Amino acid sequence: MNIHEYQAKELLRAYGVPTPPGEVVYTAKAAARVAQELGGSRWVVKAQIHAGGRGKAGGVRLASSPAEVAEIADQLLGSTLVTEQTGPQGRVVNRVLVERASRIDREFYLSLFVDRVSQRIVVIASDQGGVDIERIAAERPEAIRTEQVDPGVGLLDFQCRKIATAIGLGRRAAPFTRLLKRIYRLFRDKDCLLLELNPFIETEDGDLVALDAKMTIDDNALFRQGAIAELRDFDEEDPKEVEASGHDLNYVALDGDVGCIVNGAGLAMGTMDAIVLHGGRPANFLDVGGGASPEKVANAFRIVLKDPNVRAILVNIFAGINRCDWIAEGVVQATRDQAIELPIVVRLAGTNADAGRRILDRSGLDLIQARDLDDAAAKAVAAAAGRTEVRVP
Ligand code: ADP
Ligand code: MG
Repeated sequence: MNIHEYQAKELLRAYGVPTPPGEVVYTAKAAARVAQELGGSRWVVKAQIHAGGRGKAGGVRLASSPAEVAEIADQLLGSTLVTEQTGPQGRVVNRVLVERASRIDREFYLSLFVDRVSQRIVVIASDQGGVDIERIAAERPEAIRTEQVDPGVGLLDFQCRKIATAIGLGRRAAPFTRLLKRIYRLFRDKDCLLLELNPFIETEDGDLVALDAKMTIDDNALFRQGAIAELRDFDEEDPKEVEASGHDLNYVALDGDVGCIVNGAGLAMGTMDAIVLHGGRPANFLDVGGGASPEKVANAFRIVLKDPNVRAILVNIFAGINRCDWIAEGVVQATRDQAIELPIVVRLAGTNADAGRRILDRSGLDLIQARDLDDAAAKAVAAAAGRTEVRVP
């Protein structure tokens, strides 16, 4: 789960990491009031969406009077911001952060993340702040410094000093070490997967300040992060995914055209692989779980069909706890009730598979049955492409 920049900054402040003073607002009037209260002579107005690249897209703007702050807030609020990270449909801006403008001397990159390969928290830092880290990695890999943290001992002072020296903050090694250790503690305490400060800056007065903050929390830890779980912003999530979680379905939207309805996360992954192997692209990951009732199957169809890119649906069930006859009933019911006209490929195996296939046969519906996963994927890919014959990969 992601949270907004202003929420991440509140957490950083609570851990003693300096950020520019600021406040989130929902109206232009409140924006002007906040600017006045903050004082100073220059402010920034920052669109709060769960995506970066706002600066370049006009979502981070400088103002030199409270009236101008209000004007910018008025333009941003309710607008759709398209950045490198939002995709072409963009994101609607519902709130903006008004901050005192910092006097920047240098911008740096700093992030902590859980690295699956080393199974460690890794710190990444660079003197190339404000820039996409992937771009730095590709163009100037020597400008990036990484340190792995041993979970047994935590982040050590010498590692912080090494990073400070590498990014040209050797002079400020002591305050940098304090800052980094606070960030590390926040990361551990809140079960983060990623905490990225891009940029963190050294001001003209020599202070180290977090100017931007992106924080991703491990969904599997939300049960013990009650206060953070409440920060979930459904406006920032795919509505199909939100609806699916309400039905206890595990759905992830993807960009292909073969809709998938599968039981079991592993089989769902295997199904997506098989689709790609046959030259297609899955439109989603969907695990209907163990005891899938006909209602649950019907809900799965409804969610998959909300994606306008779907050209064919592949139902792949290997029933152990599940029963193929229930799934078949669900498929028949959904196809009738929802008047589905797209080709549907069904592969049933395991408990009551024969009974399930009989239900499909007798339904009188134009369902495409498949022998096994390979056959199912080939038929679904062909159907999505508008072909009836199957190509052997
Ligand atoms: P994004 O990463 O989405 O583009 P940032 O928060 O990193 O958004 O802002 C983009 C740039 O705007 C920063 O690199 C920095 O130069 C400038 N900026 C952001 N916040 C402030 C601030 N409070 N004071 C001065 N400049 C800022
Ligand atoms: Mg940034």
